[in-house]
Amino acid sequence: MSLLKFTSKGIFCPQANVYLDPWKPVGKAIISHAHADHARWGMKNYLCHNLSKNIIKHRLKTEHVESLPYNKTVNINGVKFSFHPAGHIIGSAQIKVEYKGEISVFTGDYKVKKDGLVQPFEPVKCHTLITESTFGLPVYKWEDETILKEKINNWWKQNNENGITSIILGYSLGKAQRILHAADPSIGPIYTHGAVENINEILRQDGVQLTATARVSKDISNDQYKGALIICPPSSLGTPWMKKFRPYKTAICSGWMAIRGARRRRNVDTGFVMSDHADWDDLNYAVKASEAEKVYVTHGYSEIYAQWLNEHNINAEPLVTEYEGELSEIGEGNTLKEEI
Ligand SMILES: [Zn+2]
Repeated sequence: MSLLKFTSKGIFCPQANVYLDPWKPVGKAIISHAHADHARWGMKNYLCHNLSKNIIKHRLKTEHVESLPYNKTVNINGVKFSFHPAGHIIGSAQIKVEYKGEISVFTGDYKVKKDGLVQPFEPVKCHTLITESTFGLPVYKWEDETILKEKINNWWKQNNENGITSIILGYSLGKAQRILHAADPSIGPIYTHGAVENINEILRQDGVQLTATARVSKDISNDQYKGALIICPPSSLGTPWMKKFRPYKTAICSGWMAIRGARRRRNVDTGFVMSDHADWDDLNYAVKASEAEKVYVTHGYSEIYAQWLNEHNINAEPLVTEYEGELSEIGEGNTLKEEI
């Protein structure tokens, strides 16, 4: 592929001298979304979607961030770049790169199923597709969002009726807002960990409508948490921070909860299968809809999925990158990675 090259710093467009989601410091980086394995520290200039801009500024402590809305093209030395909805988290984008009629698309992380919060995934036709494959096995098949919502709210409601606080774990950018969107505020109050509320505040300032939440703080008496829903990152599990919520039950939201034993290993009471990545059917839909002649498969089950595509007459090969998919996103300092 001449338009994009795979280098030790990341996916590189030589004609524009630009990297896509690089993992080593470079001059100009175009960023698919604000998760830590895609938006890394040390770039001179960042370009991302409008709703990722203030999160990247906040997380990476940089002012050198420019942004674009979806479907708007920027021309760099004759190469056209544009962002297209990836459906992964708020502000996530596929990056389209076009030069002299040749089109490549880098999906970043994506999800096809609609969650009612994130702008839905839109397939982009291209010659070359670079797709993630975090959940690239047929065993991964996500439920409809309405069923998932019902499960979460039933769990919370039951705890609430028994005077028990419900602590639900999901990474602070993406999963936390999706849990919040799913939660029915008529059941009880919703409190958030500071890491989650910091992101909520940025998104609200950027015009995103989120359900009302209150930050967990010392000014709130322990009694007030009784029966409430507490949204916090997985790293909170087992820390002294949780003591004030007693008695409580815990639940984790992750695609990995589809694997038998994952919930028990995490030592939580309940596991909800909720992923912001494409499942098996989504991956196949996205690859087909792109009409790509060549597919590079990155982070996840890249070798297995590339082989499967080749067996189904789609020219594919695995690509080694340093993206981590949901492993890093659920991680935030925990040990699930070692367990899978
Ligand atoms: Zn991500």
